Amino acid sequence: MLIDGHGRKVNYLRISVTERCNFRCQYCMPEKPFSWVPRENLLSFEELFVFIKVAIDEGVNKIRITGGEPLLREDLDRFVKMIHDYKPDIDLALTTNGFLLAETASRLKDAGLKRINISIDSLKPEVAAKIAQKDVLDKVLAGVEKSLEVGFGVKVNMVPLKGINEDEILDVMEYAKARGMTIRYIEYMENVHAKAGLKGLSGKEILSKIKERYVIRKVGREGSSPAFNYITDDGYKFGIIDPHKHDFCEDCNRIRLTAEGFLIPCLYFDEAMSIAKAVKEGDIEAAGEVLKEVLRNKPEKNRWSEDEGEESSRAFYETGG
Ligand code: SAM
Ligand code: SF4
Repeated sequence: MLIDGHGRKVNYLRISVTERCNFRCQYCMPEKPFSWVPRENLLSFEELFVFIKVAIDEGVNKIRITGGEPLLREDLDRFVKMIHDYKPDIDLALTTNGFLLAETASRLKDAGLKRINISIDSLKPEVAAKIAQKDVLDKVLAGVEKSLEVGFGVKVNMVPLKGINEDEILDVMEYAKARGMTIRYIEYMENVHAKAGLKGLSGKEILSKIKERYVIRKVGREGSSPAFNYITDDGYKFGIIDPHKHDFCEDCNRIRLTAEGFLIPCLYFDEAMSIAKAVKEGDIEAAGEVLKEVLRNKPEKNRWSEDEGEESSRAFYETGG
């Protein structure tokens, strides 16, 4: 079992398989970065897998593949299958913008992927295009339908932004609800890469929009999930991810691995250690040492706060959100 320096059990690994993306979401990667990680610095699936085996053997039982846009990485289903075949009962999930899902969902299902989270910030083509800075909606929605058709459990992620998509909080909920999907609203997390001046809605503001239609009741957190759950009077459960409150960090059970092999203890912070050398040399012991060192140094709390002005320098497209 993996325990961090603050006594928290860590069993969840999020892997960003690429920082590249086919969208330019205003809150994440509004412009193409000055430079991408050179392709030769990207770890191959085989190299990532060396570390994944170590992490699983030490007690990780939940893995999420993310990015950038993970479906840009060719043959992602091959990577899914490697992990699934090593430990078939692992909770193996993907977070994607959905653009390439219609053509990949079936292969991912066959490879052993269990669950998918799809980001949907708007159901209006022009608003979705404004946020992603590309005409994306039709393909994303086709990806949702295909994922449901092949039998995936699907969750929807939405980041409500002031003056942009805040009027669609209920519409996106109804869309998810009609298809048996849970929705999680994510508070916009301030970061230096996002478009200047962008303002997110707080959890409280999101709730008050939902209360215009529903009576809601608190359910609370499930395990170490960062989402606080609620239920509507007609029995639909949804969540709000509110990193500006620190109870978010109390049960944090996760670490993050970037595509070039940096192991990151907290989404907010820049501190990271590389496993690249260890996995390239196939040195399992050294990879395990880096893992333990990163856990010893995992911060107790992020530094987003309810006061204005806190910004992380970490790019979400590097860490996978
Ligand atoms: N490209 C995929 C996607 O968009 O789902 C996976 C990577 S993306 C970085 C993972 C999640 O982070 C998405 O649900 C996205 O909405 C969220 N995200 C990105 N930047 C964010 C920010 N500044 N604040 C809150 N959530 C953010
Ligand atoms: Fe790409 Fe996802 Fe970031 Fe949007 S949120 S730019 S889809 S990585």
